[in-house]
Amino acid sequence: ATALARAESLIRSIPDHPEPGILFRDITPLLADAEGLRVTTEALVEPFAGSFDVIAGIEARGFILAAAAAIVAGTGLVPIRKAGKLPQPAAAVDYALEYGTATIEMHDDLPAGSRILLIDDVLATGGTLAAGRRIVEQLGYTVAGVSVLFEIAGLGGRDFVGDVHTVFSS
Ligand code: IMP
Repeated sequence: ATALARAESLIRSIPDHPEPGILFRDITPLLADAEGLRVTTEALVEPFAGSFDVIAGIEARGFILAAAAAIVAGTGLVPIRKAGKLPQPAAAVDYALEYGTATIEMHDDLPAGSRILLIDDVLATGGTLAAGRRIVEQLGYTVAGVSVLFEIAGLGGRDFVGDVHTVFSS
């Protein structure tokens, strides 16, 4: 717990980024720290040990943590990308942003019935992870769990996404 508390202290809060009024949680100092990266990666996957076959990460910061987590867990990694990036998307899901909408896409190269652990860096309103859950299910795979490094509490994200494991919470 001490190593995790130290890791949490490495998350930096930047006022007014990327817009006035937004308090941005910047995890890059944590990522740059060897022990911080290791203990938080372990904490992301630990509750789900043995219950998933592969990890999916959401573009872009989710990729960093998902790749580290996949090595720790001994699984492969699947990217869930913003529209137009994957060469052969098998599904697309639109979701609401604060202003406008966004679309994520995913391939379907996994064995049928694959159990997927979904990982992202920050949970805010929950729109991104709820869309991640939908796209996995749309392709017929199973969501084994949803795991997030940092939850911005009080935005209702947790209720919107459903079961979420968060390592740190504001
Ligand atoms: P949501 O869809 O509102 O839950 O927003 C979550 C998505 O936006 C995640 O993919 C995050 O990477 C990103 N995000 C939102 N707020 C922050 C923040 O304070 N720091 C870093 N990423 C954030």
